[in-house]
Amino acid sequence: MNDPARQTRPGHRLPIVSAPGYPVDIPASTLDPLPREECGVVGVSGLTNAAELTFLGLYALQHRGQESAGICAVDRDGTSRVRKGIGLVADVFSAQDLIELPGRTAVGHVRYSTAGGSRVQNAQPIVVRYSQGDLSIAHNGNLTNAQELRSRLVEEGALFQTTSDSEVIVHLIARSRHESIESQIDDALTHLEGAFSLVITVGDTLYAAVDPRGYRPLVLGRKGKGHIVASETCALDIVGATFVRDIEPGEVLRVRGERVDRLRSLPPAPKPAPCVFELVYFARPDSRIWGTSVDRARRAFGRQLAREHPVEADCVFAVPDSANSAALGYAEESGIPYELGLLRNHYVGRTFIRPSQADRDFGARIKYNPVREVVEGRRVIVVDDSLVRGTTSSSLVKFLREAGAREVHFRIASPPVRFPCFYGIDMPSKEELIGSSHSVEEIRKVLKVDSMGYLSLEGMLKVVESAGPFCDACFSGEYSAPLVDVERGLASITNPPGC
Ligand code: AMP
Repeated sequence: MNDPARQTRPGHRLPIVSAPGYPVDIPASTLDPLPREECGVVGVSGLTNAAELTFLGLYALQHRGQESAGICAVDRDGTSRVRKGIGLVADVFSAQDLIELPGRTAVGHVRYSTAGGSRVQNAQPIVVRYSQGDLSIAHNGNLTNAQELRSRLVEEGALFQTTSDSEVIVHLIARSRHESIESQIDDALTHLEGAFSLVITVGDTLYAAVDPRGYRPLVLGRKGKGHIVASETCALDIVGATFVRDIEPGEVLRVRGERVDRLRSLPPAPKPAPCVFELVYFARPDSRIWGTSVDRARRAFGRQLAREHPVEADCVFAVPDSANSAALGYAEESGIPYELGLLRNHYVGRTFIRPSQADRDFGARIKYNPVREVVEGRRVIVVDDSLVRGTTSSSLVKFLREAGAREVHFRIASPPVRFPCFYGIDMPSKEELIGSSHSVEEIRKVLKVDSMGYLSLEGMLKVVESAGPFCDACFSGEYSAPLVDVERGLASITNPPGC
């Protein structure tokens, strides 16, 4: 973290240290917000009402994407039927829709993108007909060479129907000169750089694949005479499936009902790089990913935070819900009572239209409210999982002061977010990340808090050491997979939404 090569120098080119032998100089302007996405995927094989099970799985993965949802089901003749739309899972599918998606094989997808608007043509699964039958694909992660591949494919005559980087994978499979479906998939995947956790159907066979660094989680579960693949174990729990194992970095599995075959693995990466931000914020705390409980990881972050930044106070509470586990960990370690000092309204949809700039605090006001009885006249410790722009937090501090808090101590259960993510977590531009332009003391002043403390990168990695090593690029600027499109100047203008 003290490496001067990684410090931000406003107005200068931003040096970024990436994979070994991969130092690249990236102009700060290139790091503008790109239309990146966060997503969740589900795949089902060998189970009646596969579409219904997929629907339930997506329901549990709703936190991974709220913009669009889609399911493709394959019937016993190998015919694929797809239904996708803009909105939440429960709004996109009616009971009748699920009846009209028959078959024992299905894949599904939830997607969230901040840029580019809600475009239904970018909703997944993508379904095409090709020489080997119907093919469908649902992708979580962001490819870092999608533009380069797309340009090449377009030159060769490929016609793209979406701006999604996932469509590149479909073209690569369909155009592969290899003979068997398995080697066509394998051939296509070896061209990809960056993050992909995929579920694919060709005819009624399900395939699941994870990139060689394993950025995004993908788990295998068993139910009756079939299998379920999903981004997180909470999607297995909802359908009563039992967890079998994590799908390993570089693995490609073929799933046919009861049978799971491990196909040839992708060329290994120098080291795996699962995304530590999944444990910090993104995954659900009732999930287990990469052999670790998300709740336990967050509690460990909170306990470590209490050791690194102790302070005398009357109570500890979380910015709900994503920081609940970390705040519990802080309370356990410090012995300071845990309270519910902030309440969150769960019915605020993402589509809520803000009256334009009517009130800077409005976005936070509709979502959070302090409990006056907990905070009035007291010294409070507020724990959040991460600080991104700092806008929500400064509003929250204001609300807590208005409710009579005597002292407000802010604690963040992760290090400062200073760099954008190119592997599938939506982050604002580098300029908007408060941690990239302000010191901790400056942030304390912006938030108007009595004290401020971030979990150290070393402390965070130490407490989840057994599940690592991790990708921590958003904190350290060390990008593990080459940023091919960014380096070639292709990503800043035309980078398509990818997930
Ligand atoms: P901010 O006001 O921008 O600092 O927002 C901080 C809050 O955003 C934290 O409470 C996090 O739980 C949440 N958060 C962190 N990362 C993301 C993300 N990639 N997308 C949406 N929310 C996030």
